[in-house]
Amino acid sequence: MAKSVAGINRKIRAGKAVVVTAEEMPALVKDLGPKRAAEKVDVVTTGTFGAMCSSGVWLNFGHSDPPIKMQRVWLNDVEAYTGVAAVDAYIGATQMSETLGMTYGGGHVIEDLVCGRKVRLRAEGYGTDCYPTKELETELSLEDVNQATMSNPRNAYQRYNVATNSTGRTLRTYMGKLLPHFGNATYSGAGVLSPISNDPTLETIGIGTRISLCGGTGHVVGSGTQHNPADGFATLMVQGDLKTMRKEHLRGATFSGYGCTLYVGIGLPIPVLNEKVARSTAITDADISVKVLDYGSSRRGRPALRMVSYKELRSGSIKIGGKDVTTSSVSSQFMARRIALELKKSIEEGKFLLTQCAERLPLQGSARPMVERRPPLSLARRPGGVQQVEAAGEVRASAPRPKGREGISRDDGRCVRCGACVSLCKFGVHRYGKEQNVTVAADKCTGCGLCVDGCPTGALSLVPK
Ligand code: SF4
Ligand code: SF4
Repeated sequence: MAKSVAGINRKIRAGKAVVVTAEEMPALVKDLGPKRAAEKVDVVTTGTFGAMCSSGVWLNFGHSDPPIKMQRVWLNDVEAYTGVAAVDAYIGATQMSETLGMTYGGGHVIEDLVCGRKVRLRAEGYGTDCYPTKELETELSLEDVNQATMSNPRNAYQRYNVATNSTGRTLRTYMGKLLPHFGNATYSGAGVLSPISNDPTLETIGIGTRISLCGGTGHVVGSGTQHNPADGFATLMVQGDLKTMRKEHLRGATFSGYGCTLYVGIGLPIPVLNEKVARSTAITDADISVKVLDYGSSRRGRPALRMVSYKELRSGSIKIGGKDVTTSSVSSQFMARRIALELKKSIEEGKFLLTQCAERLPLQGSARPMVERRPPLSLARRPGGVQQVEAAGEVRASAPRPKGREGISRDDGRCVRCGACVSLCKFGVHRYGKEQNVTVAADKCTGCGLCVDGCPTGALSLVPK
């Protein structure tokens, strides 16, 4: 029995579509079998919410009077890319502020815009007969710009490797703070809720698939960079209108000592067209395995220590070389679940219709290492050809603090419930609670400060007790 997207949309419009989340589907398939589950269920909703560095926004500022051909542009001192038309620029999530270093970056600018805050635009041009202005400074809000199109080259990784650290020093990475001597292991990805893990052969996800992007409407526009489905690392390129997005579904963030990023929320509906799709959406955390890599090695090919499933990772600890190592996630399962549930509700209420993809995504991709050829000397030696960026984000010292004078405080408005703090606290202050929410038992805090700069969203601080 095969169904069609058009047929499912008719049921959605009539309020009769059966929608379940990817967490609910495995039990249904187990009870009914894939054939009957495919007959019964119309849509499975998936969700993911994590740090997605390959994200950014195209902005069109409109023309000033007299006009300027913007050669360089800064938003709140974060430089945006301008090698396009006169007043278009791309603000990338990981670009750092020239005044605040990595404590504020492109992801924070995007969050500020969505939150309705004004940002300071500074631009320089070289002046032409048609664009005579050479310098400009103004303040703009999201409603002031003509277009603000989120355009993310690589989002929603199918799964991601686990990071740990064999060395004797703390490592600060895009996988968070890795404590010495296998002091913790961090992971990312939504496992059972991961959009692509629920459709690994890309039967239904393709160019034109309508998605929920940061709480607004977006679309899959192609396969993402480093798309490599053959190895289980497929990715998506997505796009959506920033003006429709909601502040709860994105967050500017900093991995202390590493750099800036943007937490992006994606909800993706999978139409259950046939038995094959029903079977693939029955995947569980236990079925998805990833490598545990030692980030203590600075080489590209980091040693793989073992394979581990998302089920084991979510148990709170894994064994590495006979040692129990605490695990925590840098993405938020709490938010991923919320996004999948919100999408389910929107479809049930007839507010979100599915699209038939215009073209399927390739099943062969490429994530090869770089081909490193020696550049011509003239280029390598050119002044400014290679820029050194200081690790300006090492602003919060991790020196031991006197115990007992300070305690932890969490700004719940900034916290995204990822749990990066969970594996950093040896006193059990931060814990995964019900439905993967992250709880704080502040009374147990010794004020050591170890977790504070491990929080990517800056939600943690020490306050006088
Ligand atoms: S306080 Fe903990 S759970 Fe909340 S955002 Fe920071 S690291 Fe994540
Ligand atoms: S500051 Fe408090 S909550 Fe943070 S790691 Fe130390 S004891 Fe745990």
